[in-house]
Amino acid sequence: MASRPMVLDSRLIRVLCPLKRQSRRLATATSKIPQSRPWSHPPASVNIDNDQVARLASQRMHPLTLADLVRHGRPPLSAETLFSSANFTLSLLPIRLAHRIEALRNLPFIVVSNPHISRIYNNYIHSLSTLLPYQERRITNLEDEIQFTEVMADLVQTHSNTIPILARGFLECRKYIGAADVTRFLDEHLRARIGTRLIAEQHIALHLSSQPHCSRDSRYQQDGCSSCIGVIDTALRPAEITRHCESFVSEICELKYGVRPTVVINGQPDTTLAHVPTHLEYILTELLKNAFRATVESGKEREPIEVTIAASPDPPSSPLVKMKIDLLPTEQETSDPILPDSCIPGVTIRIRDRGGGISPETLPNIWAYSFTTFGDDEVLDFSNNGNNDALNAISGAGGDSSSLAGLGYGLPLGRAYAEHFGGGVQVQSLWGWGTDVYLKLRGLGRM
Ligand code: ADP
Ligand code: MG
Repeated sequence: MASRPMVLDSRLIRVLCPLKRQSRRLATATSKIPQSRPWSHPPASVNIDNDQVARLASQRMHPLTLADLVRHGRPPLSAETLFSSANFTLSLLPIRLAHRIEALRNLPFIVVSNPHISRIYNNYIHSLSTLLPYQERRITNLEDEIQFTEVMADLVQTHSNTIPILARGFLECRKYIGAADVTRFLDEHLRARIGTRLIAEQHIALHLSSQPHCSRDSRYQQDGCSSCIGVIDTALRPAEITRHCESFVSEICELKYGVRPTVVINGQPDTTLAHVPTHLEYILTELLKNAFRATVESGKEREPIEVTIAASPDPPSSPLVKMKIDLLPTEQETSDPILPDSCIPGVTIRIRDRGGGISPETLPNIWAYSFTTFGDDEVLDFSNNGNNDALNAISGAGGDSSSLAGLGYGLPLGRAYAEHFGGGVQVQSLWGWGTDVYLKLRGLGRM
């Protein structure tokens, strides 16, 4: 089976190894430094102080933009840039984690007591308690920065399996909590998680890209990617990601059904935009899986799935937008101009299949987490050890998604990824014929 490109979990192992090597080298190099030097050992975890959690959770979460992430990683990367990235990360994550802890605490007690949900709750407590000691001071030396990056790698690792665990927990609790409440909680939780992971991953990636010997063996930083700033590719080609995802989805489709429909890419395949490759990869994989499944199950495997890529028109070509740009402050007036929405470069990708469309009874449910029409023979058995394909299928961006359909997370989570940076997903069903899905992505909103 083809391996999925840019898989996050396998990266982590590679991240940790070079970091440990560096730590050891630094530990040797600094063994003669007096003990008073800050953090010559990683700060010990502290017990969580409920007042502190409440205080953090009462603070507003900073709305994350791609530009925020890029700003701290502009080449050339210096030690100062890394420190500012680490301090930026530290200014965001504790508040985000505290919000999640409060949201979990607000669930009915019987739900939080479920072993799967309480495992997730404990993961958040662990992560926040590990971060709090770092929050008390700023990161101003390389030793602290390396230790902090290790904490980030641990955080990403700890939370890598959240989605299947939460899905299982909520399915087990469905007697005690309404479907609408579950959807509301999951939607907020998974959207927040997208940003939190990205912030941590971005710092790890920037750290590694500052280490020439690491960037080669780490997939946080794509090999030879001159257009990457951390986990963001400023010249991402959706057509290329589509081909990666197509080959992965084709393999699992052939395994399940014995056939693989073809994918035709047309429109403007050379279009590029600044985005997070792992996010686009997750969304396209899920949308292609749906298109493949519908195509094959309706016996239309000879009809190609069409992927049309369209860049939004160049802003200055439209007189209205040109006028808006003229009204913007000049560079002398501000170093951080905010582009109006209509000027933000973007791409729309239409995925069109001839798989018969979505029935009127099914259509209202497709955005609910856990809604699926996957065959009855595939119904999940949650009494087993949890290693079934469907659980793996929802393991999140970068997860090992080895089932063609599963728990009904593809559309709602795909939309959450797209909306995270101002894009979206719309489904247009022509019942009896096929489905068009419009994926809109926006590039950098601010520079
Ligand atoms: P899953 O694929 O695990 O069932 P999704 O959230 O991806 O979950 O999709 C939910 C449901 O929406 C699917 O089970 C299917 O009934 C319907 N659906 C989604 N995309 C298509 C499509 N292209 N053609 C037909 N039905 C679709
Ligand atoms: Mg799906």
